[in-house]
Amino acid sequence: MKADQPVDPLAWLDAEWADWTAQGLERRLTPRRPHGRESSLLDFSSNDYLGLSDDSRVIDAAIEATRRFGTGARASALVSGWTEEHEALAADLAAFEGVETVALAPTGYAANLGAIASVVGSGDAVYVDRLNHACLMDGVRLSGAALRVVPHNDVTRLAEILTRDEGRYRRRLIAVDGVFSMDGDLAPLPKVCALAERHGAMTLVDEAHGTGLFGRGGRGAREYWDVMERVTITVGTLSKALGTLGGFVAGERRLVRYVVQRAGPLVYSTALPPACAAAARAALAIVQAEPERRIKVFALAERLRHEARRAGWVVPESLGPIVPILVGEADATMRLAQELKTKGVVVGAIRPPTVPRGTARLRVSLSARHSIEAVDRLIETLRQAAIPKIGALQEPNQRRTT
Ligand SMILES: *Cc1c(COP(=O)(O)O)cnc(C)c1O
Repeated sequence: MKADQPVDPLAWLDAEWADWTAQGLERRLTPRRPHGRESSLLDFSSNDYLGLSDDSRVIDAAIEATRRFGTGARASALVSGWTEEHEALAADLAAFEGVETVALAPTGYAANLGAIASVVGSGDAVYVDRLNHACLMDGVRLSGAALRVVPHNDVTRLAEILTRDEGRYRRRLIAVDGVFSMDGDLAPLPKVCALAERHGAMTLVDEAHGTGLFGRGGRGAREYWDVMERVTITVGTLSKALGTLGGFVAGERRLVRYVVQRAGPLVYSTALPPACAAAARAALAIVQAEPERRIKVFALAERLRHEARRAGWVVPESLGPIVPILVGEADATMRLAQELKTKGVVVGAIRPPTVPRGTARLRVSLSARHSIEAVDRLIETLRQAAIPKIGALQEPNQRRTT
């Protein structure tokens, strides 16, 4: 090899990229316009389910905290990044979640990674639902524990695998999304808890899409199913219904204090900005004081499900603000999203690898900020869409499982 002709160290990338784009998988970053009633009215792609990210009370709390503590936390929580805002939010979250204590993490992703990797390791096993959010899977990989993937919401299969694995592992953890992020359906938590109790396994429930929405008090899927006391580890995010950024791990004091010491993503990352802690605290107060927000978003979602089905779309069973509209192929899904966009309606197009092949879909997420008129406009554009509606072929319970 001639020294004056260095080999391009990124040469491998051209073929990889060509392959990726040929599959129609390229995604682009497009800047969103600033908050404003008009620009957010027909945006059905955000996880701001209660419309709190631009609530003036939440914004004011963030500004006030920023003036007092600055824009950044300046250090990790254990060093000096933990402020009065963090302390106050942790106390409020613990009271809300009905747990002894709560640890805060920079994101929900970090909270899941940290929680899982601190309670299990090599010689242990984690049982995950195949449609769990990617960060639970990544947490298991980081931990070094064995990853046992169970078909979606298949408790019979979970029971079989747990029985077969009896005695093979040191510790066992069953980790599920309380509300599945792409399908909007719930994990059957009473059955999951019963199995965990029978087999002496820990449970972890990720409430990312449950917090603020499900259950009488908006505490999530655990409250909806009345299993608040039976779940070992609750993980949540401040970035969806609470409208800001950050994650938390909730549970018994002896558990949380261990996670705070041991979880790499909490120990080695800067604490979340004080503004986020203050915003989340204000949002949490609104969740408790204004249950009408979650009632409204559930009603809007029911209207959309009903009308989209009447218009011939395949809309899997789910509850709450996430309404998947199955299309099938990735490029047809993109074309549909594009068509809606030209009519001023923004909806997320979800493709593999986020969802299994052949189940590309629009993921409509509703918010309490939407009006009935806005939802009706979405329904009308779906009715007029030029993309052929697929048959019942791709119902999620018939999906490929591994
Ligand atoms: C969004 C999401 C996360 C990650 O939360 P962030 O705060 O955005 O990092 C974790 N789990 C589930 C199920 C999610 O949907």
